[in-house]
Amino acid sequence: MIRVSEVSKTYGKGEAATRALRDVSLTIAKGETVAITGPSGCGKTTLLHLLAGLEEAEKGEIWAGEALITQLDDQEIAKIRLSRMGFVFQTYHLVPVLTAWENAALPLIASGVSTKEARTRAMEALKEVGLADKAHRYPSQLSGGQNQRVAIARAIIGKPSIIWADEPTGALDSDTADQIIGLLEMLNRHYGTTLVIVTHDPKVADRMSRIIRLQNGRIVHDGGAAL
Ligand code: ADP
Ligand code: ADP
Repeated sequence: MIRVSEVSKTYGKGEAATRALRDVSLTIAKGETVAITGPSGCGKTTLLHLLAGLEEAEKGEIWAGEALITQLDDQEIAKIRLSRMGFVFQTYHLVPVLTAWENAALPLIASGVSTKEARTRAMEALKEVGLADKAHRYPSQLSGGQNQRVAIARAIIGKPSIIWADEPTGALDSDTADQIIGLLEMLNRHYGTTLVIVTHDPKVADRMSRIIRLQNGRIVHDGGAAL
């Protein structure tokens, strides 16, 4: 469903240039659970952003299903993101002045769904992540783990085929981290949602079916077990 062919990315120019990714090729099949790991600065976030069409590759091709995202304009990519992809971040990225259900509903509202339907579906998504009883709370009234659940509800509201998560457990204690990964695994088992998780945590990486390790912008390991 995702195919990356010889993709490179350089930030900056001349003396100040950083080669963040060098000729990276990989394929991610529907339903896979993938950890992207490696030392700080090795290119993990860059790879995730390119895969999600959030940044432009300098060279190479990236396919999301039938769409060649390296050839699409921003608006077309945004449409694909909204309809097929969910995003989860280390720091949740919730809007502080909106309640849990309003945060979860945001992608639908942005795509023009009526408030009534968005609310119904946000409630369903919150139930899915075990937070139905907290729908009217604001982020400041929720714990870190609960806020990450709201963020996951927002990620799944469009019923995405793939979830991209950038250090989703980086701000959580280890028990809460376990629960959040458990929730993502449940979505994978139940709905076949593909998971691509950038993580420093070997415990998280080991729970994925596949581990891709980057070093200096290159893939140095791609397989079932950590190195
Ligand atoms: P990781 O997520 O593995 O820590 P990144 O993908 O964030 O690595 O970064 C890879 C390399 O690219 C690093 O050397 C980083 O400093 C550099 N980099 C990332 N984003 C930018 C940017 N916007 N401008 C310049 N350099 C960047
Ligand atoms: P990092 O944690 O590596 O600093 P961020 O998590 O701040 O990166 O943001 C990653 C990128 O994703 C940013 O370019 C941001 O604009 C984009 N982004 C943030 N939230 C969403 C969202 N809900 N949907 C799509 N893109 C998003």
